[in-house]
Amino acid sequence: MSDVHHYIGGRPVEGSGARWGDVFNPATGERTRRVALGGAAEIDAAVRAASAALPGWAATPPLSRARVMFKLKELLERDASAFAKIITEEHGKVLSDAQGEIVRGLEVVEFACGIPHLLKGEFTEQVGRGIDSWSVRQPVGVCAGITPFNFPAMVPLWMFPIALACGNAFILKPSERDPSAGIRIAELLTEAGLPPGVFNVVNGDKEAVDAILGHPGIAAVSFVGSTAIAEYIYATAAAGGKRVQALGGAKNHMVVMPDADLDQATDALMGAAYGAAGERCMAVSVAVAVGGVGDRLVERLEPRVRALKIGPGTDGDAEMGPLVTRQHLDRVRSYVDLGVKEGAKLVVDGRGLKLQGYESGFFLGGCLFDHVTPEMRIYKEEIFGPVLSVVRAPDFEAALKLASDHEYGNGVAIFTRDGDAAREFAGRVQIGMVGVNVPIPVPMAFHSFGGWKRSLFGDAAVYGGEGVRFYTRVKTVTSRWPAGIRTGAEYAMPTMR
Ligand code: NAD
Repeated sequence: MSDVHHYIGGRPVEGSGARWGDVFNPATGERTRRVALGGAAEIDAAVRAASAALPGWAATPPLSRARVMFKLKELLERDASAFAKIITEEHGKVLSDAQGEIVRGLEVVEFACGIPHLLKGEFTEQVGRGIDSWSVRQPVGVCAGITPFNFPAMVPLWMFPIALACGNAFILKPSERDPSAGIRIAELLTEAGLPPGVFNVVNGDKEAVDAILGHPGIAAVSFVGSTAIAEYIYATAAAGGKRVQALGGAKNHMVVMPDADLDQATDALMGAAYGAAGERCMAVSVAVAVGGVGDRLVERLEPRVRALKIGPGTDGDAEMGPLVTRQHLDRVRSYVDLGVKEGAKLVVDGRGLKLQGYESGFFLGGCLFDHVTPEMRIYKEEIFGPVLSVVRAPDFEAALKLASDHEYGNGVAIFTRDGDAAREFAGRVQIGMVGVNVPIPVPMAFHSFGGWKRSLFGDAAVYGGEGVRFYTRVKTVTSRWPAGIRTGAEYAMPTMR
């Protein structure tokens, strides 16, 4: 069994050794690693290393910073298979899905390679007689990223490439459930030529997070995780004067209109609800069957859910792996028990799944509920497992209202062949990311990712233009070269009249 430590100042650093967390292989249920749980001392060491590296890095030409990103891209491509294996070992997702997560993260590195263009700023000649003015975007300082278990590579990659390309230093606090990906990223950045201290990793749990929130040397905090913690991070970091973006949980609906291609909608629901065992913030957990389409949709879904190929992530044939921990498995299972008690119809019950040779793994079979209603807790709350709820809505307006009224506002999709209905839906729905015949509408790296309502606290989404805005401060310079003309003291507010 190996230990996972921290990475500070360009090298691996052992923590105090006082506190450790367990890391499991979710497919076998075995404890495979220990992770050092850092606290105030480790965060302070990382802030000192980052602060020392910051002036040199901020002064490095954007083109040179971009070249580190180009190199990182090359290294991530070189190591994609080995990196995916690390993710599967600790998260449990199937290898092809782990590889997909790396590619989606890599796209943000590719976007960050264009940073010289993105930081060009604005210039106005002659804002007054003989006066020019320009705005530049400068780094914010030492930034921190606190990330969830479900995308141990992709979510950090949503943040740090842009933060670093903009000239900031960065401290990553990965999820303590699958911490090895964060350390691997730090090693690759060092190999890519990033100066020591510009990127640091402190592993840990709430203690490390609280040390980040309370540290005066940290200027900005990016968080992705569950809504309760996102709200706490947002309030605490903002009270400490930090810039903060905190992305939370989700309950993504997929509206299936009566005119939709039902085979296509069924395929879309299978991948979006059961891929990564439902442990995706953009997973579809609610299918809204509009008009009379409910029975036909459930008829198509039922055999597909029963036939899901479930196995360890390393099995090339598996479509779905285990859940991340035993506690999470118990939590998801208890939601299935609850749904039955609440009166929903459990069409497919995955609770009895046993896999030969993997009896201690954290597996749950696909579960399908029908006749779920908006009052039920299984509708209101995020389950984050392979559980799909079918809700029936009489018409378009009712479906639109359901999705819009939910407290979460991350993603939504509509499946229809009616362009007018789709346009109306996309325009009016109160959700941050919308798919039209696209079940998981995760924006590409040159757009930005962010939900609405209780899925995002703060005003900046992540990556794309929003990422550049979050990781930079605007400075506006107004300049005059008087050429020997003295105008004397001016006591009134200067104007152009
Ligand atoms: P989580 O909220 O439990 O943990 C996220 C991070 O917060 C981890 O680094 C963890 O160490 C830290 N943390 C946990 N409890 C804390 C506490 N009490 N105080 C301070 N810090 C704490 O989330 P998770 O279980 O790792 O991830 C799943 C959640 O993340 C789901 O709700 C999912 O929807 C959400 N998520 C959202 C997005 C998005 O883009 N909106 C993306 C991925 C995941």
